[in-house]
Amino acid sequence: MNDILSRLFFAGFIRLHILHHAAEEAICGVDIVAELGRHGYRLSPGTIYPALHELEKAGYLTVRTSVVAGKVRKYYAATSKGRKALKQARKKLHELADEVLQPPKSRKRAKPNR
Ligand SMILES: [Zn+2]
Repeated sequence: MNDILSRLFFAGFIRLHILHHAAEEAICGVDIVAELGRHGYRLSPGTIYPALHELEKAGYLTVRTSVVAGKVRKYYAATSKGRKALKQARKKLHELADEVLQPPKSRKRAKPNR
């Protein structure tokens, strides 16, 4: 994946995506890599785990350790703070998508706040 694009834009998309899925059900790193892979992101553990730790540090995710088929897995779930953040981010995402994904002709420019 393009490094500049990843750093500037996709890093936030990935975090939002993780939070979205962690709000639906507890999810482990391996599942997140697979899920994001389904969306065309090829992520290494070196990308995913720092993102998970940041979200955890922000208080948006809680982590629980579970042994699955003899393997220790960490499962991440959204906290109520995380759900609130997700709600705010969704609002912003909606606004952005409404504008950015419009065909050029119907684009309206927001009036400057002065
Ligand atoms: Zn997804």
